[in-house]
Amino acid sequence: MVHVLIIEDDPGIRTAVTRALQARGHAVDSAADGLTGLQMLLTQNPETVILDLGLPDITGDRLLSMIRAASEVPVIVATARDDEGLIVKLLDAGADDYVVKPYDPAHLEARIRAVLRRAGGGGDDESSRLRLKVGGLTVDPARRTADIDGRVLDLTRLEFDVLAYLASNPGRVISRKELLREVWQRTDSARTVDVHLSWLRRKLGDNVESPRFLHVHRGVGIMLEDAEHPAGNPA
Ligand code: CA
Repeated sequence: MVHVLIIEDDPGIRTAVTRALQARGHAVDSAADGLTGLQMLLTQNPETVILDLGLPDITGDRLLSMIRAASEVPVIVATARDDEGLIVKLLDAGADDYVVKPYDPAHLEARIRAVLRRAGGGGDDESSRLRLKVGGLTVDPARRTADIDGRVLDLTRLEFDVLAYLASNPGRVISRKELLREVWQRTDSARTVDVHLSWLRRKLGDNVESPRFLHVHRGVGIMLEDAEHPAGNPA
């Protein structure tokens, strides 16, 4: 059970998402505007916030910086625009993840689990914590091993950390800045990310032109997905 706060002015979406998450066993608070949402955040202390960017009283990025000034709570931004520049900007401004509308509740719930896992909190059960599977790729964070279709990969510590991070966020484009922050825990020299990704690509056996696992989104970042077993992402 995760305590979620939804800040969303569209009553149809707010009600539908609230019901869907409640039906999955989560506790949900909701607010129809930004300042009410901020107040609820401070009084209700939710574990995750779903933040609509288009609110009537305050812009989403403004509210995001106010939330960040007050709390470390994971924030998932819900945006109507699949605008890569905007998304990178929001991730840099402290959003933990994003969903593009219309999104389905199962996808949202997966994103909630991913941000909580990264935040080191709950919302994760023992079995999914043990192994991360992305198509034919299996990553075992406890044993620090990874294999593709049963073929064990020989990875350095950093390569494993990068792969494990990508595998805990399958099907999501991760910026180099985010990898630096989460894996290297620093914010400079994005070049080092490229170097390690190219080594990792070689060990995964990926072809640069038509990769199976590491998919580069030019100017945005990298996404892990098994092209031979693509995930059923919602349209
Ligand atoms: Ca809206």
